[in-house]
Amino acid sequence: MAFAEDSVLVLLDTMPDGALAKTAAELLGAAALVGTPVALIVSDAEGLAQAAGLLGAASVLVAPAAGDRLTVPDVDALAAATDLVRPDAVLVSNSIEGRDVAGRYAARTRSGLCVDAVGVTRDAEGIVAQHSVYGGAYNVDAAVTWGAPVITVRQGAIEARANAVPSPSVSTLVVMASGSRAGRIDGVDPVVVTSSRPELRGAGTVVSGGRGLGSQEKFVLVEELADTLGAAVGASRAAVDAGYVPQSFQVGQTGVSVSPQLYVALGISGAIQHKAGMQTAKTIVAVNTDPDAPIFEIADFGVVGDVFTVVPQLITALQAWKA
Ligand code: FAD
Repeated sequence: MAFAEDSVLVLLDTMPDGALAKTAAELLGAAALVGTPVALIVSDAEGLAQAAGLLGAASVLVAPAAGDRLTVPDVDALAAATDLVRPDAVLVSNSIEGRDVAGRYAARTRSGLCVDAVGVTRDAEGIVAQHSVYGGAYNVDAAVTWGAPVITVRQGAIEARANAVPSPSVSTLVVMASGSRAGRIDGVDPVVVTSSRPELRGAGTVVSGGRGLGSQEKFVLVEELADTLGAAVGASRAAVDAGYVPQSFQVGQTGVSVSPQLYVALGISGAIQHKAGMQTAKTIVAVNTDPDAPIFEIADFGVVGDVFTVVPQLITALQAWKA
């Protein structure tokens, strides 16, 4: 199989049920911005190559499933794929698994690693990664001085989507196992998800509540607005520390980083550590009683008011609009 000179290799994550992860569309969209997307799928599941084509992969390499071994099979597959494709860059999701694979692969191949990119561009010298750093206070560009950069891309950060390729060229990748030591999966206990809300990481809309909600009982207001909007629920650290919601809801420097289309901050002051995890959201709406709250500095729409007055009205208006 011949590959375009501007190929960008994309490692696609798969879900426990065998389907491509939601990040596939974003990663292929990012690759299409700077070159010709070539997807690498490490799985035996059927139909994934066609699914990757529909998300924009011009070519798809399919490597044998990892079985019960963690990370190393993906690193081995990436090494085999880069030998074949000679890409201008390697894109991997900034998921927990993706970071592990990207770090090991970059160390093995002595490649430059750019982590948690919120954008990619190309200049005369190659591919450049954009990062939001120092708690979101600065945007910086990063490029490597040698070889193809390995870039992990923040989930939800890339809006662009690639054009569908209905019949991508698909080939099976021959992978030589490196024999590197790998963690083994002894057993899998599925976590029963009782919520029908989207997962915070990668959600298109997030409604977050802060200390301004006042109590665990009153935090229900955040959940009501989230359900009206079909959004995921997030929280500030102060809300987590006060016991309103579990730590897994925390958005920010020491929580989850999100880049949704819409982020609604209710009773959140907008401390730099909170902004670090959400200020790449495309549209930010804030409701706060304090007109000087720092959240208003980055909000696209702000309401100075009490959440317990404003949010019920908002929910009623949204429900009326939906009806
Ligand atoms: P506050 O700062 O107390 O703000 C509450 C806001 O609610 C105020 O602006 C107030 O005007 C408003 N309000 C009150 N009542 C109402 C009402 N009825 N209606 C409307 N508005 C109302 N924070 C994070 O969020 N995420 C992190 O990952 C994180 N990591 C951290 C890491 C470190 C190392 C440190 C030192 C701190 C970190 N923090 C983090 C904490 C951060 O500094 C702030 O303390 C925290 O974000 C404040 O949360 P808050 O905005 O909910 O609370």
